[in-house]
Amino acid sequence: MFGPEKEHFVVHQSVICEKSNYFAKALCGTFQEGITGFVRLPDISPVIFRIFLVWLYHGKFAYVATDAGIDVDFASLTITDEDLEDKPIHQTDVSQPDDTENDSVVSDDSETERGTFGTTKSTVTVDDPKVQMSSSTRSANNTVLNKSKHDEENPESWAFLVFIKLYVFAERFDIRQLRADALDGLATAMNKRWMNISFKAIRFVYLNTTVNSKLRRYIVHCTAYCCKFAGSASEYEKLPVEFLVAVLLTNGRRLPPKQCDECYQRALKSTGLIDLDIDDVCKTQDLAPYRLDMCFYHEHPDEEERKACAARRTTTK
Ligand SMILES: [Zn+2]
Ligand SMILES: [Zn+2]
Repeated sequence: MFGPEKEHFVVHQSVICEKSNYFAKALCGTFQEGITGFVRLPDISPVIFRIFLVWLYHGKFAYVATDAGIDVDFASLTITDEDLEDKPIHQTDVSQPDDTENDSVVSDDSETERGTFGTTKSTVTVDDPKVQMSSSTRSANNTVLNKSKHDEENPESWAFLVFIKLYVFAERFDIRQLRADALDGLATAMNKRWMNISFKAIRFVYLNTTVNSKLRRYIVHCTAYCCKFAGSASEYEKLPVEFLVAVLLTNGRRLPPKQCDECYQRALKSTGLIDLDIDDVCKTQDLAPYRLDMCFYHEHPDEEERKACAARRTTTK
């Protein structure tokens, strides 16, 4: 397999085809790749692919850094203006410098983004850590002097963006289990740091996932339930309409924590909400689905797998 800088990865066909419907069709079917055994993936980050390979063979997240070190490798995942280009949202100028926000909805990634954003601006493609390294030597040096911000063996320390890009990768190549694990990884990292993902990352998610994406639902829930909605309204104008509408609806349907069940039921009736099939509102507590059951986001095909997943979660806790 080829990464962007023609980095080669060798993967057992049977292993990758078992997990990925995409590769099953490409490698184990009758297409050209099926005969040659090669797949070119020019726009896939080798960083993401390396994490994917460890996950594929060992069933967990860990990272084996290049000589540049994990922080520089991960910095290559930073969302650039180019990533958000050509698909303007609300006609807003997507390259406004204040886009690296640091207020209410902000995130750990804002650090990564702020650190490298100015120096890398649309001259590098996301996919190439080596180019990124040379063009942002300043920020690289700064981080190299200190202890690594990210720990290779501890995904809880990883930038949210790593999991977001893993999820996008998993969606593109149809790897259901990786989607679930990436989302869990993101949730764990977010719980650890009590931060929300950046506006930029939200926009990236909406540009790179499908309508029914569980990652979309997850970030909608995180925002609806945890965002303080501070700052001026104009800051939110940069966010995708679908996202804003989903947050609005989620918040509008939430059970106010101080309202008793009886009043809530009455309110549901009077607004007509009771007749709707709403899957993500707890009718007894004001709790987001991720607080109640992460399986809400896991796309389990049957109840058996769902039970096994829940059991695994309680034993590891
Ligand atoms: Zn009441
Ligand atoms: Zn599950």
